[in-house]
Amino acid sequence: MASTSPHYRIGLAANRAHLDSPESALVQLLAGAHDAIALHLRPELIVIGRTLDAIATHGLLKDYPNIERFPYGRHGGLMKLVARVVDADPARTLDAVIYLIDPVDPSSTFPESVALKRQCIIHGKPFLSTLAGAREWLELEAVGAGAAPDATLDPMFDLANENIALIAHDAMKERMLALAECHFDILDRFATRYATGTTGRLLNELAQKIKGQDAGRHWVQPFLSGPMGGDAQIAELILDRHCRRVLFLEDPHVARQHEADIQLLERAARTVTDFACCVSERYCIERWFSLLRKRSSTG
Ligand code: PGA
Repeated sequence: MASTSPHYRIGLAANRAHLDSPESALVQLLAGAHDAIALHLRPELIVIGRTLDAIATHGLLKDYPNIERFPYGRHGGLMKLVARVVDADPARTLDAVIYLIDPVDPSSTFPESVALKRQCIIHGKPFLSTLAGAREWLELEAVGAGAAPDATLDPMFDLANENIALIAHDAMKERMLALAECHFDILDRFATRYATGTTGRLLNELAQKIKGQDAGRHWVQPFLSGPMGGDAQIAELILDRHCRRVLFLEDPHVARQHEADIQLLERAARTVTDFACCVSERYCIERWFSLLRKRSSTG
């Protein structure tokens, strides 16, 4: 185990459909990422009631010592996770949340579920709501801590055969351009880049500066602007398993006229939980780029 491993405290929860069966997302995640968790990262896990019951039933994380039980959802477990995300005390705060969401489970739209994601974004912490997103995050963090890449995940890191979507709300567009400029070489490795309308136009202007007028003109394929339906168009790419990753610089501090479209996009990702990964916050996106770079050079 590498000594550079950060000491993470991770909140863990899953909707019922993602924890009942031996093939469920929770089982796939904890079995697939066993070494990342138990050998390389050794995080403290704060797990809400039913999810922890399922971990025991499926015989997962046996003898893993760093687990704290939180109440069942109906007794406020998810609400307590939100309070821990925003807690400034380093001995209590969560560094990341894995909440495997089933989009047709009513509890996935309860206020505490929505607030959990929103506060993660506000406080710059990863919020991982799909199996693929959580698996990718654990893999990259393990590689960051010195682990060898897990070869079974190589196909999802074969960027030349992968597509990516980029979306930035208005207050975040400058930040998106800065990130794209700084990590242009990585974005350039993807087969296709998609974006909502205005974000895409700005990214193509950037690409023209970097690659030249002609080569950069169609670097990104823009869809409609977000409020005009661009999020829904990108959601279809995700549902069709054509585009796995979305880098989404959301503005959580404003009322969004197209909130429904934004949530539609998130729900699309959760509908194909084994496939889609959304990274929704600038520090998380920055870290994603740097760990992806490390995994590419380690592989
Ligand atoms: P835009 O859409 O890139 O067209 O601005 C993003 C959004 O606001 O959802």
